[in-house]
Amino acid sequence: MKGRLKRNQKKRKMNKHHLRPKSRGGSKVQSNLILIDMERHNAWHILWGNRTLDEIIELLIRLREIKKSQSYEVHNQLKLNFSD
Ligand SMILES: [Zn+2]
Repeated sequence: MKGRLKRNQKKRKMNKHHLRPKSRGGSKVQSNLILIDMERHNAWHILWGNRTLDEIIELLIRLREIKKSQSYEVHNQLKLNFSD
């Protein structure tokens, strides 16, 4: 299993992704880089642009809060409609 995983990784072209983007002052130090295959790397930037991981997490938390408040509003509206 481990050997097969290694072979699959060799077939893929690996890219270095900057956790803090170069365009925003991110450097080439190892702690700022992750290795990711090219397909996933492209998908990452299509989805998230040059946002940092912290910014993405913040965005997802905000979206979850919006979703929660919307379902709360819908729930309350349904209750009002049924009690009429
Ligand atoms: Zn990248």
